[in-house]
Amino acid sequence: MANDDLRALIRTIPDFPKPGIQFRDITTLLLSPTGLATAVERMVAAVDGPVDLVAGIEARGFLFAAALAVPLKAGVLLIRKDGKLPGATIAEDYALEYGQDRIAIHADACAPGARVLLIDDLIATGGTARAAVRLLRKAGATVTQARFLVDLPDLGGADALRAEDIRVDALVS
Ligand code: IMP
Repeated sequence: MANDDLRALIRTIPDFPKPGIQFRDITTLLLSPTGLATAVERMVAAVDGPVDLVAGIEARGFLFAAALAVPLKAGVLLIRKDGKLPGATIAEDYALEYGQDRIAIHADACAPGARVLLIDDLIATGGTARAAVRLLRKAGATVTQARFLVDLPDLGGADALRAEDIRVDALVS
């Protein structure tokens, strides 16, 4: 399957979640057995070196984190919205267009020096992914690479993440 075919499986919903936003909806790609398998295989192939944990960002990032962790023989680390994890957590704030948000991980989720691969479905401004990298590094993880299904390059998130010494790769721009 060509990357253009993967792109064709992602639909654009205008004015969601608010007027003026073109939402890239990957649920249509998830519905396609071939599309999903191709996306996961390509994301796995783009991974550099051994990984101990795959960290997925809530909620669609969880799907790809688990799918990649199995062939990579790694565990899955959940990065959740603050207040959802049951154990002791560490958290990180990040700016939204209006206001701010906070993500969290379990404080004991990764051993110091654990090699963590960051995964999400999509990178836009990079605010979420950069906060995730800060959080993982605060926990002692070694984070050098992040993989996404979709990059929206006009928003500059991938470049901002690269400036934090992260190798960034996305299947579709
Ligand atoms: P960022 O922090 O601006 O890079 O936004 C990325 C986060 O918001 C990711 O967790 C995405 O799942 C979500 N997101 C932002 N825009 C879209 C979109 O158009 N489609 C799907 N998810 C999006």
